Amino acid sequence: MDVKTNTNEEVLIDKFNRVVDYVRLSVTDRCDFRCVYCMDEEMQFVPRAQLLTLEEIARIAQAFTELGVKKVRITGGEPLIRRNVIKLFEDIGQLPGLDELVLTTNGSQLTKLAQPLKDAGVKRINISLDSLDPEKFNRITRVGELQNVLAGIEAALAVGFEKLKLNAVILKNRNHDEIIDLVRYASDRKMDISFIEEMPLGVIGDHDRAEAYYSSDKIKSDLEQEFTLVPTTETTAGPSKYYKLNETGTRVGFISPHSHNFCEQCNRVRLTCEGRLLLCLGQEHSVDLRKILRAYPGDMDKLKQAIKDSMLIKPKGHDFNLTEKPIIFRHMNVTGG
Ligand code: SAM
Ligand code: SF4
Repeated sequence: MDVKTNTNEEVLIDKFNRVVDYVRLSVTDRCDFRCVYCMDEEMQFVPRAQLLTLEEIARIAQAFTELGVKKVRITGGEPLIRRNVIKLFEDIGQLPGLDELVLTTNGSQLTKLAQPLKDAGVKRINISLDSLDPEKFNRITRVGELQNVLAGIEAALAVGFEKLKLNAVILKNRNHDEIIDLVRYASDRKMDISFIEEMPLGVIGDHDRAEAYYSSDKIKSDLEQEFTLVPTTETTAGPSKYYKLNETGTRVGFISPHSHNFCEQCNRVRLTCEGRLLLCLGQEHSVDLRKILRAYPGDMDKLKQAIKDSMLIKPKGHDFNLTEKPIIFRHMNVTGG
C-alpha cells in the first residue's frame, strides 16, 4: 500500500490567524476557449520563456506540502493544454503529506486525458459547463465545441473519479434560463454543481458586467421553483455555500463573491504561471517565487522561507465592485480560478 506521510509539522498561518492549507497552481494562462467573462477577444499571453517549467512548478508544490498544505488544485488558463502536463500531475500526486490533488478544466481534453489523470492520482475534477445549447455554448466560449466537452464529461464519468463537479458562471440574458437544465444534467450523472457569480477580473470587451450580473440569490430562487433546497452544514474548505436537493440528492453550491464575501475563512493562495504567488484573488499582494527559484537553484529552505514570509502580506480580504472599472487588471486565466 502506498502510505504517504509528512513528518514535517510546519503550517502556514497568516496575520489574521487563518491557516493556509490549499494552493492553486496555474500552469498556463493560455486556453483553447475565450470565455466572454474570463478573457478579452484579443489576449496577450505570457511569453513561453517566462513560464515556470513543470519541474519548477513541482518544486513549489513540494515546498507547499512541506509547509502543511494538504490540497493542490491545478488550474489555468486551460491546464490540460500545457505540453507534458500529465508528468506534473504524476510528480505532485506522489508528494508526501498531500491529501488531495484536484483539477479545474474546461473539459475539452478529457476524452484523451481522463484516464492518465486518474492514474496520476487526481481525485476530483471541476469541469466548467455554462450551457447545454451548442450555439449558446459557442457564443459564451467564443470558440468552444459543446460536443467535445460533453464527451469529455462522459469519459471522466467512465473512468470513475471520487467526485466530479460542474462549475457554471451565470450571466443574465446569456444562460440564466439554463439553470434548471444544468442542474438536471448534473443530477442525472450524480455530479455536484456550483454556480458562480461573475467577478470583475480584467477588462473584457464583451459585455457590461453590472448588466450581466445574476445573483446567487436569484439563481437559488429560480431553482426553488422546481426543487426543495436544504442547506447543508458540511464545510468544503472553499467559498461555496452548499444545498442539497431533496428530489435528487444533488449538491448545489453557490460561489457568491458579491452577495456573500468569503474572505474570513480564506485558506488559500494562488500561483500564476510565471511564478507570482498571489495572496488574494481580489488584491495584488504577491511574491515572486520564480526569482527565488532561479536565484537559489535547489535551495528548498530559501523557497520555503519566502512562502512563510508571504503570510505576513496576505490581506484581510477584498471587495468587488461591478459598477466601477476593474481595479484588478489580471484576467481570471492569469489568476488561476
Ligand atoms: N480553463 C479552466 C476552466 O474553465 O475550468 C480552468 C481555469 S478557469 C479561469 C477557472 C474557473 O473560473 C472556471 O470555472 C471559470 O468559469 C471561472 N471564471 C473565469 N473567469 C471568471 C470571472 N470573471 N468570474 C467568475 N468566474 C470566472
Ligand atoms: Fe479558458 Fe477557463 Fe477562461 Fe474559459 S474560463 S477562457 S475555459 S481559462
